[in-house]
Amino acid sequence: MTLRSHEPIIAIATAPGHGGIGVVRISASDIDPLLARLFTVQLKPRHAHYLPFNDKNGNAIDAGIALLFKGPHSYTGEDVLELQGHGGPAVLRRVLDHCLEVGKEYGLRHAEPGEFTQRAFLNERLDLAQAEAVADLIDASSAAAARSAMASLSGAFSSRVNALGDRIVRLRILVEATLDFPEEEIDFLEKYQAHATLQDIQSDLTALIALAKQGMILREGLHVVLAGQPNVGKSSLLNALAGDDIAIVTPVAGTTRDKVIQQIHIQGVPLHIVDTAGLRETEDTVESIGIARTWAELEKANVIIHLQDARARNDELDTAITNRLPAQTPVLKVFNKIDLLDTAAQAEFLSSPDMDIPSGDGRSAPEVHAAAAAPGLALGISAKTGDGLDMLRQKLLDIAGWSPTSESPWLARERHLKALDSAGNHMALAVEHASQNDRVLDLFAEELRLAHEDLCAITGQFTSDDLLGEIFSSFCIGK
Ligand code: GDP
Ligand code: ZN
Repeated sequence: MTLRSHEPIIAIATAPGHGGIGVVRISASDIDPLLARLFTVQLKPRHAHYLPFNDKNGNAIDAGIALLFKGPHSYTGEDVLELQGHGGPAVLRRVLDHCLEVGKEYGLRHAEPGEFTQRAFLNERLDLAQAEAVADLIDASSAAAARSAMASLSGAFSSRVNALGDRIVRLRILVEATLDFPEEEIDFLEKYQAHATLQDIQSDLTALIALAKQGMILREGLHVVLAGQPNVGKSSLLNALAGDDIAIVTPVAGTTRDKVIQQIHIQGVPLHIVDTAGLRETEDTVESIGIARTWAELEKANVIIHLQDARARNDELDTAITNRLPAQTPVLKVFNKIDLLDTAAQAEFLSSPDMDIPSGDGRSAPEVHAAAAAPGLALGISAKTGDGLDMLRQKLLDIAGWSPTSESPWLARERHLKALDSAGNHMALAVEHASQNDRVLDLFAEELRLAHEDLCAITGQFTSDDLLGEIFSSFCIGK
């Protein structure tokens, strides 16, 4: 993508497909010559004009609303024209093609993905975190995610980051000023109560990181893999978890034979659950391919649910599975079909889910995987009756690190979290320099500068063209 190009751009802004209304949008630094070619009447900014959209022979392609926004009071900060017509792909394409033809002599070209929003950023209508929130709002898969994206878009995240940056800068100005008068260095920190300020800044930063982490969970979700022997109830569990969420379940058929991914939501947190082919030794080649992929899938999981039949817990094959699971991934051992146990055993499972679960059928306790054996990581459920599922949902959220706060988080990205973490590291170093006996004020000032720079990267005050290209090219066309 060519950054900072000033050619006029055009795109269909509404989603592909059929709809009541479709919008073609043009952004240009000066749109007047183009308007004169497109319409016989003069458009008044911010007025809805109902007009025919004519082709070059004067025949109507469509009729609809033309809306003109003059820069800088527009989405992109340039002149923006929106043509709202009927929402069909063929008719919108004709409107688009006609505009492209008429606009050719002014350099009008089709917009790249995210190019409208990129111009909004370059013209300072939005900062970078807000621009990212535009894409996140469009992509939000739950109400909670949409709410958080909107919070970011309206600048809640940016203003917290900026406020923190300002405090760091103020402190740095004091330090730098002191550096010019070495005899004052000694009591600089006391004079300005710098220690208290530093502590405040650090605790602000910690709070910001915590909220950003929650936001990242909302944005990325959790990659959960269901593993276990055939017939233990993996598919039934997936359906039961998806059941309450049926309106937003999006089944993505992988290579159907071996893998199904469903996206479900728990308290608005997206979970991508992979149902895998049952793990067992097999002679059947097709099935064994599925199983090979299951092991590959397991390597990518954030959490593994190792599902077993409650009547035959930790049998030989399950022990073999346990021993092969990736050691670094949390494993939630779940015993299904507790409805088939006697009432006493069921009650035991449901009353104390974190108990040391005995091995089934009087078999001797097998060696278990270290992670799987960790307390609190085993529970009993019935995919059939729904018993224990709430507990399972809560466990999944716990493992994700989800802790709902009164403050709704922003939809943070990994990029934001890295920058916040780095700022935190620089602040820690700053504190270190400030508390040494021979306080090194110039190093202290330098760490403050670096922390501030990290914060600025979030809102895009210092960014490379590469990063911008990467961010905006992931947008949809027309945004
Ligand atoms: P998968 O091969 O692991 O995906 O297992 P399925 O979900 O296909 O289930 C295998 C069989 O177990 C089916 O007949 C299910 O109806 C049954 N089943 C699954 N969960 C339960 C449960 O909690 N209780 C009982 N009684 N049967 C279940
Ligand atoms: Zn299955």
